Amino acid sequence: MSGRLMVIGLGPGDDRTLTREAHDGLLAADALYGYGPYLDRVPVRSGQARHPSDNREEGARAEAALRHAFEGAKVAIVSGGDPGVFAMAASVCEAIETGPDAWRGLDIAIIPGITAMLAVASRAGAPLGHDFCALSLSDNLKPWELIERRLDAAAGAGFVIALYNPVSRARPWQLAKAFTLLGRHLPGATPVIFGRAVGRVDESVTIATLAAAGEIAADMATLIIVGSRETRLIARPGQSPLVYTPRAVESVSA
Ligand code: SAH
Repeated sequence: MSGRLMVIGLGPGDDRTLTREAHDGLLAADALYGYGPYLDRVPVRSGQARHPSDNREEGARAEAALRHAFEGAKVAIVSGGDPGVFAMAASVCEAIETGPDAWRGLDIAIIPGITAMLAVASRAGAPLGHDFCALSLSDNLKPWELIERRLDAAAGAGFVIALYNPVSRARPWQLAKAFTLLGRHLPGATPVIFGRAVGRVDESVTIATLAAAGEIAADMATLIIVGSRETRLIARPGQSPLVYTPRAVESVSA
């Protein structure tokens, strides 16, 4: 019997943003692995085993799922958003690279999902309409010094910047430091979008300026998009403004 490991993106919120491919993969799986709260978003199907694990156990989770698939089962590992963006697909690749040679023969499918950055952007307008980059602000897996260097380079090069993992209880000061650093490259009026729990019942979106960004609450369920010098805001009567980054840049200095 040949096993299969599917790494499935659940999208940002409820099942309206789940792709058909992800839905079919979840139905086909004999066993599901993932961070508990993500697994809770998958409807229960009888006969399907569930293996929830903690957020920080990605390596062990990937190995357990690979072993299970190698025994012949159809196994799914789930991630919120897209599994390739700061999530399980890279952990699975790493486990395959360092694991037994036989795992390289396994059937692996990475099934994409809508990542948080795209979901938040869609709520505000088109902030990612021109060149952009994405950074995780978490210094669990890399030194803070490197994060500072990348923020500097990204803002200096004129990218719109999506910030994943902006704050956690263990990382209370990093976000304010990041805004200060970005303020050295960007005007205080630069639009900043805070999207929290987008796609879920408790969704909230706040549009601020870089100068006032430090006053807006953010947590682990928040994704932040910091505009570039070109990003602008269109005020609208009775509705929240549209934030967009034009498709064209006129001069190199921008
Ligand atoms: N694989 C995920 C990202 C994992 S990192 C994806 O593609 O979206 C976790 C970070 O993603 C969170 O700290 C937050 O910054 C962001 N995030 C995930 N879901 C979100 C949502 N529904 N709304 C806003 N941000 C979200």
